[in-house]
Amino acid sequence: MIELEKIEKIYNAGKASETHALKDINLRIEEGDMVAITGPSGSGKSTLLHIIAGIDSPSSGEYRFCGKLVSDMSDKERCRIRNQKIGMIMQDFGLLGNDTVLRNVCLPEVIGGRYNRKFENKAKEILSAVGLPGLEQKKTNQLSGGQRQRVAIARALAMDAKIIIADEPTGALDSENTDSLMDLLLELNRQGITIIIVSHDPKVAMRCPIRYRIEDGRIERTKIY
Ligand code: ADP
Ligand code: ADP
Repeated sequence: MIELEKIEKIYNAGKASETHALKDINLRIEEGDMVAITGPSGSGKSTLLHIIAGIDSPSSGEYRFCGKLVSDMSDKERCRIRNQKIGMIMQDFGLLGNDTVLRNVCLPEVIGGRYNRKFENKAKEILSAVGLPGLEQKKTNQLSGGQRQRVAIARALAMDAKIIIADEPTGALDSENTDSLMDLLLELNRQGITIIIVSHDPKVAMRCPIRYRIEDGRIERTKIY
C-alpha cells in the first residue's frame, strides 16, 4: 500500500542551514498493518509522516501509494488520496475548539459541500462507536484530552479513511487515556484500517506489532522490547 524506496529529504539544500532529515529510507507498509515509528526529537519522524501523507515531497527516491508513483500523480489526485484515504491525528488534536463535536466530525464534508442529514446520522453512529455517545452538541474545548482525540479519530472514520496516521496521538494524554486510546486504535486495526503511529512513548510502541526506529534520518526495524 505504501512503498518508500531510497527516500531522501534535504531541507535548505546548498545553504549553511542545510539539514539532511531523511537518509535512504526504504519502508513498506501493507494494508492492515499497525506500525509504530519511534525516535528522538529531530530524528525525522514528522518529515517522514508528512511525505507519507503527501503534505511534503521527498528530495529524491520513489514513493508509491497503492502501486502508483506519487510524483507522477496530478495535484488533484494527490489531494484526493490525502482527503479521502488518509486520516491525520495530531498531538494537538487539530479540532476547532469553539465548534461542536458533530461539526468537527463532519468538517471535511461541510467544507466539501457534501454535508447532509444522512451523513450526520453516520457521524452520530461513529461517535457512539468510538465511545462518545450523546456528546454531539458539546464544544470540543469542553472535552477531556482523551475525548478530543476520539473526535479526531471519528472524523477520520467519517470520511472512510483507509489509513490513520497519528503524530504523537497520546502526547497530551495521561496513562489511563493513553491505554484506552490504544485499545480503540487496535480495534480499528482489527477492522482492517492501516495504522501508523509516531510516538516517543514505549508503552504506545509496545502495543504495535510492527516497530521502526528512526535515528538521525535513518530507519531500522526494531525487535521486541
Ligand atoms: P522529528 O519529528 O523526529 O522531531 P522532524 O522531521 O521534525 O523530526 O525534523 C528532522 C530534522 O529536519 C530536524 O533537524 C529539523 O530541524 C529539520 N526540519 C524539519 N522541518 C524542517 C523545515 N520545514 N525546514 C527546515 N528544516 C526542517
Ligand atoms: P514535532 O514535534 O512534530 O517534531 P517540530 O517542532 O520538529 O515538530 O516541528 C514543527 C514544525 O516546524 C514542522 O512543520 C516542521 O516542518 C517545522 N520545522 C521543524 N524544524 C524546522 C527548522 N529547522 N526550520 C524550519 N521549520 C522547521
